[in-house]
Amino acid sequence: MPIFEYKCGECGQEFEKLVFGNQEITCSKCESKNTNKKMSVFGMSGVENPTSSGCSSCSSSTCSSCK
Ligand SMILES: [Zn+2]
Repeated sequence: MPIFEYKCGECGQEFEKLVFGNQEITCSKCESKNTNKKMSVFGMSGVENPTSSGCSSCSSSTCSSCK
């Protein structure tokens, strides 16, 4: 079950929502559709930043400061 955290852009309410398909997300407080997805709280354990590869000084993960 995909659970996402959202923050309302209107009233600032933070809430979690189960999302199925292309369901439209509305604020749990003011029902605004101006919501921002924060992050998934499901299945993210052990993954800090999947888009990051390599260290700050190279992009190939092969320099001496890469792990
Ligand atoms: Zn709201």
